[in-house]
Amino acid sequence: MRILIVDDVPDNIRLLSRMLENDGYQLSSAVNGRQALKLAGSCAPDLILLDIMMPEMDGYEVCATLKVDPLLSSIPVVFLTALADAEHEGRGLALGAVDFITKPFNEALVRLRVRTHVEIKRQHDLLTRLSRLDPLTQIPNRRAFDERLDGEWRRAIRSDESLAAAMIDIDHFKEYNDTHGHPAGDDCLRQVATALSEKLERAGDFIARYGGEEFVCVVNGEDGQEVCLSMEKLRRGIEALQIPHGMSPVSPWVTVSIGAALCHPTKDTPPTGLVAAADVQLFRAKKLGRNRVCLDSV
Ligand code: GH3
Ligand code: MG
Ligand code: MG
Repeated sequence: MRILIVDDVPDNIRLLSRMLENDGYQLSSAVNGRQALKLAGSCAPDLILLDIMMPEMDGYEVCATLKVDPLLSSIPVVFLTALADAEHEGRGLALGAVDFITKPFNEALVRLRVRTHVEIKRQHDLLTRLSRLDPLTQIPNRRAFDERLDGEWRRAIRSDESLAAAMIDIDHFKEYNDTHGHPAGDDCLRQVATALSEKLERAGDFIARYGGEEFVCVVNGEDGQEVCLSMEKLRRGIEALQIPHGMSPVSPWVTVSIGAALCHPTKDTPPTGLVAAADVQLFRAKKLGRNRVCLDSV
């Protein structure tokens, strides 16, 4: 776990660093507010020990800036300051700091408090990770997908690029379960999920389990042809696993149908429309005989 120490007096940084290094933390340090904010973004600390009285930007301002940034607001902040009165402490805690320690501090107590806050952060991170992971397949879940799609949507608007989404559905999976049993069905879902994740290798592409035997992905692609090629690769990849499907009229193996949609995101439309358009194409792929890719540019 990494701790960022922010103090304009280098001697204070040295003292705290020596103390916390012995407890096994990785340390970074900043001597002013601007540097602190920059490091908070780049070195992903699990805790920030923040001085208040610093020239230019004081600790309160640093804390307030961190707390309104969605990427940084979950980093716990502990004020470590010579301002030892209830008014300052109240102001610091009201800004969202988890603790307020006054100087001169007791070394053992600071180490114990740091240990507690880092442990809470560790558990918070674990819960965040688990809440975005599908327990059966160990790939991202629907919640993670929705968040990612929102982010990619906003990024595509900023960079004036197009964005594609695809729904991937296992063909005749009910029959697979009926023939081979649910434990084998679970195993099949795991294999399909792993293969899809491996085949979707381009940076920025993202796949998740949408629910049941359906998967969903965001694909960065310039044009429909590129997206089609990328989806065709996924479709072939699943068939190539050669998972026997005793009851599929489409193939002796487990196959998937894929519906994809490509659009040019704008501020006035929500990303849900893109997923809905992909779903329409999935329906078309099923209708046309399954084990195929259909795409629409919306
Ligand atoms: P289609 O080709 O039209 O997609 O037909 P299908 O049978 O795949 O679709 P349908 O929606 O009728 O059935 C989906 C099946 O997926 C039914 C459900 O029992 C199964 N399923 C959903 N989630 C799980 C799971 O976690 N494990 C297993 N083993 N089966 C699941
Ligand atoms: Mg389905
Ligand atoms: Mg299906």
